[in-house]
Amino acid sequence: MAKKKTAKKSSSKKTTPKKSSSKVSGGTVKATICINHEIWPMERDVLFRPDRMKYVRKLIKPEGCVFCNAAKNGVSFDSLCVYKTKHSMVVLNKFPYNSGHVLVLPRRHCGDLLKLSDGEYTDLQQTIRVTMAAINSIYEPGGINLGLNHGAVAGAGIPEHLHYHMIPRWSGDLNFFPLIAETKVLVESLEQTYEKFLEYFKKI
Ligand SMILES: [Zn+2]
Repeated sequence: MAKKKTAKKSSSKKTTPKKSSSKVSGGTVKATICINHEIWPMERDVLFRPDRMKYVRKLIKPEGCVFCNAAKNGVSFDSLCVYKTKHSMVVLNKFPYNSGHVLVLPRRHCGDLLKLSDGEYTDLQQTIRVTMAAINSIYEPGGINLGLNHGAVAGAGIPEHLHYHMIPRWSGDLNFFPLIAETKVLVESLEQTYEKFLEYFKKI
């Protein structure tokens, strides 16, 4: 018995990673990786997107602050800004975790919540509430993730300019975090998301 166990163990150690791939589109490769099951018991589908590395590593830096640029351009699909108030604005996340993922932020370039004026802060909170109503009306989600990463150490991608993330959530969509989970499929394009929000905000 003991001999058999040893033999089984050594053969599993020799398991080499296998990968069956199929092209999806635009150089994207979808693959199922089969690896040593004693270490990684679950197979999973992986969507390889090497072109995303430049964003992950921040190799491409836009000129100036993207949010300030969006604030200057006003409401337009080019800037992804879909709504503006006196002190705040709502822009679509260019790389959404889920359909309907938007950012709510002050128009002024400021990375510290404590440095917002009372007027800016109140306006920002009111805009968050209005955006929550928009998401509920458009997407009817089961819940919404609302979060602010305050500072680079806390995970803010653009720490110099405050921005709240608002992400609609549905029951069972646990794999919304594309970096650590399985392949994420978004059910609508950014253009479609933009049109939906624009239509809602035009009415208020
Ligand atoms: Zn800015």
